Amino acid sequence: MNHEELKRLDGRYVMPTYGRFDVDIDHGSGATLYDLAGREYIDFASGIGVNSVGYANPKWVAAVTEQAGKLGHISNLFYSQPCARLAQQLCERTGMANAFFANSGAESNEGIIKLARKYSFDKYGKGRGTIITLKNSFHGRTITTLTATGQDVFHNYFFPFIDGFRYAEAGNMDSVAEVAGHDVCGVLLELVQGEGGVLPMDQAFVHDLAVLCAERDWLLLVDEVQTGVGRTGTLFAFQQYGIIPDAASFAKGIAGGLPMGGFLANDKCSGVLGPGAHATTFGGNPICASAALAVLDILDEEALAAVRENGNYLRARIEHMGVDCLGGTRGLGMMIGVEVLGERSNRELAARLIENGLLVLTAGTALRLLPPLTITREEIDKGLAIMERTLA
Ligand SMILES: *Cc1c(COP(=O)(O)O)cnc(C)c1O
Repeated sequence: MNHEELKRLDGRYVMPTYGRFDVDIDHGSGATLYDLAGREYIDFASGIGVNSVGYANPKWVAAVTEQAGKLGHISNLFYSQPCARLAQQLCERTGMANAFFANSGAESNEGIIKLARKYSFDKYGKGRGTIITLKNSFHGRTITTLTATGQDVFHNYFFPFIDGFRYAEAGNMDSVAEVAGHDVCGVLLELVQGEGGVLPMDQAFVHDLAVLCAERDWLLLVDEVQTGVGRTGTLFAFQQYGIIPDAASFAKGIAGGLPMGGFLANDKCSGVLGPGAHATTFGGNPICASAALAVLDILDEEALAAVRENGNYLRARIEHMGVDCLGGTRGLGMMIGVEVLGERSNRELAARLIENGLLVLTAGTALRLLPPLTITREEIDKGLAIMERTLA
């Protein structure tokens, strides 16, 4: 099948919910991808922050194939090793108490929203179910997580949305105070807003928010679906903010390309969701959990240090590139936003870069770079050369 044939097939049978770039991808190795015609692409996108250890990583492939040959699925009615070992790894490396496993980011956020509501119900009874989220946030595409998302463009078509969410301005404690009330049970935020434009939260704001949550007995919920699993240079971003959240969701990068999500709870919240309170059929699936164990094994302290170094290197190189259409950079680790200047939109620049062999993303009005965390310097330099050549 060639590119045009694939496009026709997809156009005829796949629901047209995605505006795709005019590129197909067939296979990859490291941070390098190839299309059906054999053309090479450098990947600064990771399938939107998912392919954390690159493509066809030998450790990951071995873990997945070995587990697939052993036990593919068993349900949560029985014990299985990969799930328990993964929970242990995540807790030992973060100081959190226990883990629930889900299958996507939205579903993981639904879980921490339920956790906050049940925590409050158990302690205070009904009437304290409101969650404060931030403007410009993104929390997912289910009805609840769309409602939680603090962007009006997402509150459309699918009426009725649900009650129980209020939106405060990021970085502004007065704005949080304005929406506070006796009905609040938690605050949900991304420590670096991803889809909103790669906007890191202010350290002092996060600290003040944590203090307020403790005072009011609101749960502090962090959505680490994009920032988690090494993306920002520590295993979770909250480890750089000096806070211990009550719960932290994760998904995208956890299983290096297989669908998996979940959330961690701290000691205070580890017993809130007891037997029957929450469940999902595929959660903690042995193949996904084995993949995630390989990802965590690969992302050791040395690999995380490389994420920080390569992130700084990428940002410095881009800032000194001297092309008119790019401004400053922002972000944490290898979650990088590049400001776009001039006539052309971020989407147009992304299309040009992709056409020329560099996969990038957009977010807000910025270009967004989320390379595989294991990308080599050589691949980074190749990608930067394409960027310079294309945008000069
Ligand atoms: C991608 C993302 C989600 C949604 O994850 P899905 O797996 O698409 O449901 C939620 N929150 C954040 C911060 C994200 O980046």
